[in-house]
Amino acid sequence: MVDYFEERGINASEDADTRRARLESHIMRLMADFNLFEELGMPNQLAPPASKEVVNSLVEEKIAKSNSGKCDICLKEYEIDEITKVMPCKHKFHSECIDAWLSKTNSCPLCRYELPTDDKFYEDYRKEKKRAKERDADIANLHNSMFS
Ligand SMILES: [Zn+2]
Ligand SMILES: [Zn+2]
Repeated sequence: MVDYFEERGINASEDADTRRARLESHIMRLMADFNLFEELGMPNQLAPPASKEVVNSLVEEKIAKSNSGKCDICLKEYEIDEITKVMPCKHKFHSECIDAWLSKTNSCPLCRYELPTDDKFYEDYRKEKKRAKERDADIANLHNSMFS
């Protein structure tokens, strides 16, 4: 007789956390594939704060000369000796301004470049949305290669 667990591809010795993690990743995948995130209003919600670690690792730059432009968060001109932070997208803001911004949401106020977050649910969502998009592109490519 085939073992109940074996028959269903279940590893009976798997611990509860591993099983839960596996279940969660299946659910996230299904949600992405069936556009259920959209039904929950996910894309319209404010993304979670950027990861503190990432924010702390942003490169700081001291303003060395006048006419260095302005901060697009507080809209004030930079003054000499003010400390700014540079995002990976190369956009620059006052340190305090961007720190406060990134404690609310994870993207650049100018171009929406997204920093990693500490929110596991959001990160899974992002990963699955990316995968679903790539899958759609693959299907489109396959379709084009077959019918063109
Ligand atoms: Zn500012
Ligand atoms: Zn940017």
